[in-house]
Amino acid sequence: MGKPTGFMEFSRQERTYAPASDRISHYNEFVIGLDDAALSRQGARCMDCGIPFCHSGCPVSNVIPDWNDLIYKGRWKEALEALHATNNFPEFTGRICPAPCESACTLNIDDVPVTIKTIECAIIDRAWEEGWIKPQIPAKRSGKSVAVIGSGPAGLAGAQQLARAGHEVTVFEKNAKAGGLLRYGIPDFKLAKSLIDRRVAQMRAEGVEFRTKAHVGQNVDAKDLLAKFDAVLLAGGSEAPRDLAVPGRELSGIHFAMDFLGQQNRRVGGESFDSDDIFATGKRVVVIGGGDTGSDCIGTSVRQRALSIMQIEIMPKPPEKENKALNWPNWPNKLRTSSSHEEGCERMWSVATQSFFGKNGKLAGLNAVKVDKKMQPIAGTEFVIEADLAFLAMGFVSPVKQGLLESLGVSLDRRGNVAADYEGFATSVPKVFAAGDIRRGQSLVVWAIREGRRAAAAIDAFLVGSSVLPR
Ligand SMILES: Cc1cc2nc3c(=O)[nH]c(=O)nc-3n(C[C@H](O)[C@H](O)[C@H](O)COP(=O)(O)OP(=O)(O)OC[C@H]3O[C@@H](n4cnc5c(N)ncnc54)[C@H](O)[C@@H]3O)c2cc1C
Ligand code: SF4
Repeated sequence: MGKPTGFMEFSRQERTYAPASDRISHYNEFVIGLDDAALSRQGARCMDCGIPFCHSGCPVSNVIPDWNDLIYKGRWKEALEALHATNNFPEFTGRICPAPCESACTLNIDDVPVTIKTIECAIIDRAWEEGWIKPQIPAKRSGKSVAVIGSGPAGLAGAQQLARAGHEVTVFEKNAKAGGLLRYGIPDFKLAKSLIDRRVAQMRAEGVEFRTKAHVGQNVDAKDLLAKFDAVLLAGGSEAPRDLAVPGRELSGIHFAMDFLGQQNRRVGGESFDSDDIFATGKRVVVIGGGDTGSDCIGTSVRQRALSIMQIEIMPKPPEKENKALNWPNWPNKLRTSSSHEEGCERMWSVATQSFFGKNGKLAGLNAVKVDKKMQPIAGTEFVIEADLAFLAMGFVSPVKQGLLESLGVSLDRRGNVAADYEGFATSVPKVFAAGDIRRGQSLVVWAIREGRRAAAAIDAFLVGSSVLPR
């Protein structure tokens, strides 16, 4: 374990942020890491619990106490091995995972969990800097081929695992660049896209072929892929956004969050796009939806110099602090304030939008109302929010059915996701598998990586009879 008395000697120390006044002038990452000595002290705080609850909280089952101990002792290369044993892309999770491991950490009972995510990110960033990360080229080829449709974290993790098992892997991606929501959803200030590029380069060197601007079900025939490849992994994400069917929805100035975020990420990446520019500059912005996507709309609007930003959420305001006795080690429902919130916005809870109103076809505001715990409008609480721009950030209902899924005829579950169980990942169509948001519904990057890895092991076993790939 780290240092037996470490958790008593050292306080929790987290990464810090560059001041909001500086960071809002650009789209670069702004997290300031800890130095080696501080990281060693943080690793020393880990108690290597008999039951390491951090594991139960981590979807990829990271062997957290092992690498905490290794960082305490300054054995970075071994820490990297332990980290990579369960996670293909710790540089993504080390930046944008909500860290359910830290909620589950025993020291979180006292609100001072081990800084697991900070340590994870430090290990992988150092490993890239030092040049320790090399392509892992398989010694033997299986002669089997797999088509992976979608290059988000699920598709990337699945493709990397399958290539390392010796299969010939081709990734089909409808966008111009690989990465899925890592590339086009999550803003650059939370995750620099160069991190995706270097992983893609590593995967190319490992034998993965990437075909971008290849929209399966549109300009690439899905049935053709079935005929040509020995297995197909569907990793197309959950891309159908939840809409708000209220009067005035047709006014200009009301956009799905992804239309806004995708554009800005493309601008930063020097990519062109066909749609009209959406800019928050000088506008009164309302963000409808209180989750990660909404928070990213706020951070992006701040950087575009919006006049004002209001975020509204239909659910009640969560408690500032969870009841540990009831919650721990589970993920608690509590108030979360992101770096984007801190950069400047107003937040309201228990608010429903009854209609949009406008002038000359353009949005001018929302008619809103407070709702009770059952989300029913409370009479007499109606109010108006003036706005020039509204972003709908209320989540995603399911994968898009038209094209790929309809053409393959895969069965869907009750929620409209692709039906495939969590053990075998096989869909109703022979040799077609599914992983990530397309199967489990909108979720997290860490879950997508986990599903990609597990699905790869299932596909490997399907192709060659058994698999030694870690799940
Ligand atoms: C704005 C936003 C912010 C988020 N922030 C966080 C966060 O901070 N932390 C976190 O853990 N999670 C976050 N999430 C959730 C997370 O991004 C997703 O859960 C995760 O990316 C899902 O991975 P995936 O590989 O299943 O799908 P996706 O990342 O959606 O990738 C699917 C890919 O498939 C491609 N595709 C789809 N259909 C086809 C087709 N027919 N042919 C070819 N290609 C196709 C798409 O273009 C896309 O590239 C966020 C989501 C959004 C929208
Ligand atoms: S629960 Fe916390 S203290 Fe215990 S092993 Fe995991 S990281 Fe270390």
